[in-house]
Amino acid sequence: MRQCKIIKPLLKMTPPDPTSFRPKDIMGLLEFAKYFAAKDELGGLGEKEIYDTIRFWTMSVRDYLEEYFESDVVKAHLAGSAIIGTALGPYSPGSAYVLLHHYMGEVDGTVGAWGYSRGGMGSITKAMAASLKANGGDIIAGSPVTKILIKNNRSHGVVLENGDEIFADKLVSNLDVKRTFLKVVEKKELPDDFYNAVKNFKIRGSSGKLNIALDDLPIWKSIPEGDPAGTGDLHITQSIEEMEGAYDDWKDGRWSKFPYVDMCIPSINDPTMAPQGKHYMSVFVQYVPYNLTDGGWTEEKRLEFGNM
Ligand SMILES: Cc1cc2nc3c(=O)[nH]c(=O)nc-3n(C[C@H](O)[C@H](O)[C@H](O)COP(=O)(O)OP(=O)(O)OC[C@H]3O[C@@H](n4cnc5c(N)ncnc54)[C@H](O)[C@@H]3O)c2cc1C
Repeated sequence: MRQCKIIKPLLKMTPPDPTSFRPKDIMGLLEFAKYFAAKDELGGLGEKEIYDTIRFWTMSVRDYLEEYFESDVVKAHLAGSAIIGTALGPYSPGSAYVLLHHYMGEVDGTVGAWGYSRGGMGSITKAMAASLKANGGDIIAGSPVTKILIKNNRSHGVVLENGDEIFADKLVSNLDVKRTFLKVVEKKELPDDFYNAVKNFKIRGSSGKLNIALDDLPIWKSIPEGDPAGTGDLHITQSIEEMEGAYDDWKDGRWSKFPYVDMCIPSINDPTMAPQGKHYMSVFVQYVPYNLTDGGWTEEKRLEFGNM
């Protein structure tokens, strides 16, 4: 948790450029030094903790958990947060940091807690839309952006699929970096090295999602009826070795035969998520390739995956 507190504020900072001697970058480097290099009594990590931190950032979650736990089930349970949503396995260097990253969030001041948004994730964007409209904004939806208009190295508008053009002084793209710079900005507008850096940026899908409509709550063999354990996050996994095997399947372009499963039933805590008396289960499955080696996704394979 101490590492979380140190790293969390850094995530929102633009990293200083160590090759520039601009005052802003020099101040930024000093700020970093305060975090890392300063002695403990000056608010930094101190020598021993710097060593531990660097070691921690580069180690695998398997090696990390081996140092603290004996039980395979406990290690596998904790390792889930180190691989979920990533293209890493529990033996991969750097996966220990992902575990920390997933404990960095907080709900109402409780560090490491996860929360539900009432009404589902869509209620967040609905609230954002309502706030924008309440402040005089307009929302135009239903026709994707096909081109960002650029003149003299500055964006000044967009073209929509239906042919409409919208002009603006400032433009913010919420598309991911590849869609923004490889699809809707023309290549001729970008420096070659920047274009190639975006092209080489890795976005490889590694997770699958099942949303299951339930007539009633499931009966778990190992969780007594009404036990609070059934209302939280449920992980299905056996051992770290099995998780690494699941990762091997993904590398071969197949969904995992024995996946790591992380699921919950949001309708227990938020009845608005399902019709009255019914329930909804959200199931996160790791690993699932975006591109399957045996000819890509089809409706048949999608159903096969869902029925696995
Ligand atoms: C299975 C799964 C589980 C997750 N679980 C969690 C979780 O529990 N907690 C958490 O915090 N995060 C979670 N995440 C991550 C989270 O969902 C994403 O980080 C978040 O949705 C990213 O938001 P965004 O607005 O940047 O992008 P997106 O949500 O991808 O929004 C981009 C939007 O742009 C639209 N678009 C695309 N092309 C165009 C175009 N040409 N013109 C106009 N619009 C276009 C898309 O349709 C989309 O609506 C999860 C992700 C996945 C895949």
